[in-house]
This record gives sequence, C-alpha cells and structure tokens, in this order.
Amino acid sequence: MSPLSSAAFEQLKEKIPYVRLGTFPTPVERLSGLENALQTAGLFIKRDDKSSEQYGGNKVRKLEFILADALAKKKKHTITFGYAGSNHSLAVAVFAKRVGLAPISLHIPQPNAEYVRKNLLFQEFLGTELHPYNNMLSIYVGTILVFIKCTLKTGRFPYVIPPGGSNVLGVMGMVGAVLELQEQVARGLIPEPDLLYVPLGSCGTAAGIALGMKALGWKTKVRAVRVSERKGSDFRTARELFNKTAGRLTKLLPSFPSVDLGEGDFEVYENYLGEGYAHFTVKGMEAVRRLAESDGVTLEGTYSGKAMAALIDDAREGKLAGKNTLFWNTYNSVDFGSKIEGIDFRRLPRQYHAYFTEDDQPLAARAGKERA
Ligand SMILES: *Cc1c(COP(=O)(O)O)cnc(C)c1O
Repeated sequence: MSPLSSAAFEQLKEKIPYVRLGTFPTPVERLSGLENALQTAGLFIKRDDKSSEQYGGNKVRKLEFILADALAKKKKHTITFGYAGSNHSLAVAVFAKRVGLAPISLHIPQPNAEYVRKNLLFQEFLGTELHPYNNMLSIYVGTILVFIKCTLKTGRFPYVIPPGGSNVLGVMGMVGAVLELQEQVARGLIPEPDLLYVPLGSCGTAAGIALGMKALGWKTKVRAVRVSERKGSDFRTARELFNKTAGRLTKLLPSFPSVDLGEGDFEVYENYLGEGYAHFTVKGMEAVRRLAESDGVTLEGTYSGKAMAALIDDAREGKLAGKNTLFWNTYNSVDFGSKIEGIDFRRLPRQYHAYFTEDDQPLAARAGKERA
C-alpha cells in the first residue's frame, strides 16, 4: 500500500485555504472506438473536461487552491494573463465571479478561431475587465498600469494569478487529481496507466500529474506534448514546479514521500506544435476529428488535439503495444453557447474586434463549426 492517499489530500484542504469549485471525481472511460480503429488495446481517458457543470477543463482543480488563497488574503480582484482565446483567463473569470471576486484579464494576440470569440464573449458576459495588448512588452507595461489603477481605486492589491495558473497552489490541485485517479484504479475502473499523454502549456498540469504519480510510487511515463513555443513550456519548468510543490507538500503532509523527476519519467514531445501556439496542425485536427468519430469525445486544435495526435502516432508505431495508456482530457466540454447568444462583440474593447470580422486560420474549418 502506498502511504499517500486521498485522505492525505483531505488533510491538505484543512491546512491551507481550499474552496470547492468542481464536480469530482471526473469520469474515467475506455476509448474503445479508438482502440478498434488503431488496432490496439488499453486506451483510457480521464474526463477532466467534465470537472465543472459551468466550465470544465484542467484549470478548475488549480483554481480551487488559488482562488481560496485569494479569498483568505481578503482580495477583491484577480488579475491574470493569456492569449486572447485563453481558456485559463476564462476559467478564472467564471470561478472568480462564483466566489465573489472581480476578474481582470490581460491578453496578447493569437491565431483566430471560433473558440477565441466564444471565450471572449463569455468573459464579457461575466463582466470581466478585459485588456488587449499587441505584444509581450506592452502587456508587461500594461500589467503594471492595471495593477496600480486597481490598487488606487480599491485600496487593495489585486491578486495576481500567473499564466495557466501554474504555480505551487495550482500544481497541488493536479496532485489531488491523481489521488482521485488512484481511487478509481483501486476500484478497478481502469488499470494503473503505464503511459500518460497530456498537453504541455505552462506545465502545471503535467507537473502535478507527474508529481502525484511519483508520490504514489507509480511507474507511469508522462508524455507531455508541447503546445507552446514560449520559454517555460519545457522539462526544466515542469521539474521546477514539480520540486517546489513537492517541497511544500512534504512540509504540509507528513506522509508525503520524497520524490524526484527524472528525464526518463517525463518526456517532452517537441514535434506536434506546428507553427506555434494555437496554430492548428493537420495532424492535430485529424486527431480531433478521429476522436469525435470513434468515441464522441470533443477535443480542440490548440492543446488536446495535438496531444492526441502524438498518442495516435505512437500507437501506429507500436509504442503502445502491451501498455495501458491514459489520455488526460484537459479541455472544457460544457456548452456555454446559450449564455453568449446575442452578446454584441462591439461591447468588447476595439482591439478584439478583428477576431469577429476577420477569417479564421485555414485549418479551423476542419474542426467543424462548434468545436473549433
Ligand atoms: C491551459 C490548458 C492546457 C495546458 O495546461 P498547462 O497546465 O498550462 O500546461 C492544456 N489544455 C487545455 C485545454 C488548456 O486550456
């Protein structure tokens, strides 16, 4: 028996601020359609797309610790960052509002697709303060100005959440996800995975999953598929988050073992990014289409499609033979279309309007209108 259990995680929630935001456990399922299509066995999926009835995906677990910390610090506003279509900034807006905080999102440009428009309109619907910038330099300067303005207006520093929610608190949420998974394994719902496929953005998700698995003594190999060209989407960053979070957890939980992340445990896949962040790829969109057809699971082109493309290639090359493979679905699958119907994009700051008046990137059409 492993010394670490979900009971330990329950202890953690009493030692540091925690607020329940999601609906857990998220289901685990067999991808039998894809198994058939690829003539392989042992393919499973963790449905973190269903982590909330309001807005699911991988950010929910991270925000349970992050927003609780903001509340404990008596903050009134959150500030966070991302590309214009950022799922993270939307998740922060949804759950900040839920717990009574006022969200502020700062964005830089990205390739156009339907989900960008939807995410922006949902943030507008939620009353998010939106700030578009043209490049990294202007968002740095903008952050300082928005921070100062908010502080002067409210007499309080806003709570700053890093891109992707990838800090120690966010990673802790993902460690909890693995303890949840361990219970599902113990109940026989799925086997302990030999291989784990997940997209690698700001690294918190993959680092937390790797940490949880290591702490359980699992031998699972994490295959993290890089979806961003930015510095900070690499093994080094993942290991740093892993180590910092492990350090904090060792202090908080007596039963938390001493663990380390080796290159052999955590492989970063470099070949699925394509032209860059949020640039859809032929392989990625093919993977999106395949999984919709085979198992009725909706992925997208920026993150999860690229990770699934890596899994499919590996299956074709026989690299999954005899293994149990788990795909971690990080993308929200809750349809919020009815909430944003009838919201006029002209209510958004002008710099966002181009996403509504200009064409999508060429491969977007392959996703089908709804799931671009
Ligand atoms: C944010 C996000 C990721 C990346 O997770 P990180 O923790 O930033 O690596 C993956 N998939 C989806 C759908 C996301 O929104």
